[in-house]
Amino acid sequence: MAIFVQKFGGTSVGDPARIARCAARIKERRDEGHGVVVVVSAMGHTTDELIELAGRVSRSPSRRELDMLMATGEQVSVALVAMALESIGVPATSLTGGQVGITTDGAYGRARVTGVSRARLDEELGLGRVPVVCGFQGVSGSGEITTLGRGGSDTTAVALASALKVAETGGVCEIFTDVDGVYTADPRLVPTASRLTRISYEEMLELALLGAQVMHPRAVLFGERYGVPIHVRHSQRPDEGTLITRETPEMEDVMVVGAALKPDLGRVSLRRIPNNPGVQGMLFEAVAKAGILVDDIVQTEFGEIASISFTVDHGDLADVKIAASQVLDRVGTGELAIEIGLAKISVVGTGMKSHVGVASRMFTALGAAGIAIHNITTSEIKISCIVSKQDAQRALGIAHEAFGLDRLGALQAASTAG
Ligand code: ADP
Ligand code: ASP
Ligand code: MG
Repeated sequence: MAIFVQKFGGTSVGDPARIARCAARIKERRDEGHGVVVVVSAMGHTTDELIELAGRVSRSPSRRELDMLMATGEQVSVALVAMALESIGVPATSLTGGQVGITTDGAYGRARVTGVSRARLDEELGLGRVPVVCGFQGVSGSGEITTLGRGGSDTTAVALASALKVAETGGVCEIFTDVDGVYTADPRLVPTASRLTRISYEEMLELALLGAQVMHPRAVLFGERYGVPIHVRHSQRPDEGTLITRETPEMEDVMVVGAALKPDLGRVSLRRIPNNPGVQGMLFEAVAKAGILVDDIVQTEFGEIASISFTVDHGDLADVKIAASQVLDRVGTGELAIEIGLAKISVVGTGMKSHVGVASRMFTALGAAGIAIHNITTSEIKISCIVSKQDAQRALGIAHEAFGLDRLGALQAASTAG
């Protein structure tokens, strides 16, 4: 018996009719004779609504209580999906993260999975039942309810698929969502984006970190580390989807496989500070202590004086301002500047390792369109440009076109068929 993990996202379980279609999909797999474990997210915008509700009773709700609250969203949907399955003759059991034995560290709101027990899942599968598990949640070592970060149900699914060794059974982890696969860019932002037949874990991870919301970055990391094949598919209609797999030699032939946009960045600059040894450590230690993820860092030097700029999510600016001001007080001189209204566009591809001219093609295309680049960062498989927020969507489309990404989906499909 092959084991499949099927994850359904928020839109896919957004109302009773959609839940019924998801249940039919689950039944189809089970009728093929396979074991199925289901993971679901909270219905529609439930998680956003819960966060907003918390904000109405407290200006700074504790992270513990926020996790307790957010975790309720998934509990509603697992029960409903289990009921829908039972109503079409599929025995099902809804389970919380704690009931399954999904353990995490204690970092509320962004907890990491530290272990998954398969005992309860095996027990349910052995009885011919479909376990329907709450995505996005776990239990810390001290028994507290935690959540895995926004979009974290993908990670629950891949973690369960890894614990169940689905690949060894001949199964896969299916991520059912509201698009029919991974596209060369968010199809809502770039209408000419094309669907990829396959993408490597490494490329998907970069795209996810750079703003492609379709997969949670930690889910891709888990998949890569434990060799879980991930199939991204549409929950409401039959499709071919996109397979996320290990890199194959022909993947290196393609320079760029996707483009992504991260909106709403802010830039923090400490200008004209003394470039004493340790000043960078002091600054970024303070920022890290405040729990803030830093995007890219630029330092410029004029003799003994330096200016350091870095970008962060817009929502982190208030906290970062406090941390950076304290550092400035300690160094004694300099000034703090905050810019808002920035965004980052990036292109990603493992083929960059073996092709030259990728950066120049991107910069030339953006330049020809009159788009100013405020900063550039590169790694082996990505190039990112900071642009103003108002230019961002147009810049994404231009980068997408410059690398012929509208045709990549068809090219991949043809090479797979041949
Ligand atoms: P779910 O609720 O199923 O987890 P998400 O909203 O988290 O769904 O992710 C699906 C959305 O991701 C799509 O509707 C799409 O707009 C967005 N998206 C961003 N980048 C991409 C991409 N490269 N390919 C496909 N979808 C993308
Ligand atoms: N419900 C959670 C969220 O909205 C988890 C998820 O959708 O994956 O972030
Ligand atoms: Mg998601």
